[in-house]
Amino acid sequence: MTATNARDGFAVVRAGGEFRLVAQREFSTGSRLFAVDGHLTETPTRYSVQVGAEIHLDLPGGHAPEEMMDRFFWRFTNHSCAPNAQLRGREFFALRPIEPWQEITFHYDTTEYEMAEPFDCRCGEESCFGRIQGFKFRTAAERELLRPMLADHLLAMVNVVHR
Ligand SMILES: [Zn+2]
Repeated sequence: MTATNARDGFAVVRAGGEFRLVAQREFSTGSRLFAVDGHLTETPTRYSVQVGAEIHLDLPGGHAPEEMMDRFFWRFTNHSCAPNAQLRGREFFALRPIEPWQEITFHYDTTEYEMAEPFDCRCGEESCFGRIQGFKFRTAAERELLRPMLADHLLAMVNVVHR
């Protein structure tokens, strides 16, 4: 029996006290990584990802641990201020070449307008924004820096403002 699931090409590991999503093979710039799948809600939570103006994808309740790893592994994708992935629609794409065992990260301010659980980023990148609490709280200059990576629903918002 061949087992294929949405997680093919990725693994969830625990390193430095945190769960991390890592690539298991190489991905070139622009290649599709994986889709996000789950329960649609208007209320953001700690683990949800925003996929529309007032739409968030969250984990449905009552799932088995296997299902968490095979279907909802995307929720282990951590934030970075210098990420290697971006959300387009409901799929993640590589922003630059990704090597096997490299962690997959995205900038939470590129999908979330106002986060349910803001946090202080310690990614150590030169481009670190510090407190990550959602796009709503970014300055005009910071929004411009994020623009190339912005999810469609936030990009639409920026484009309206600039018109
Ligand atoms: Zn940071």
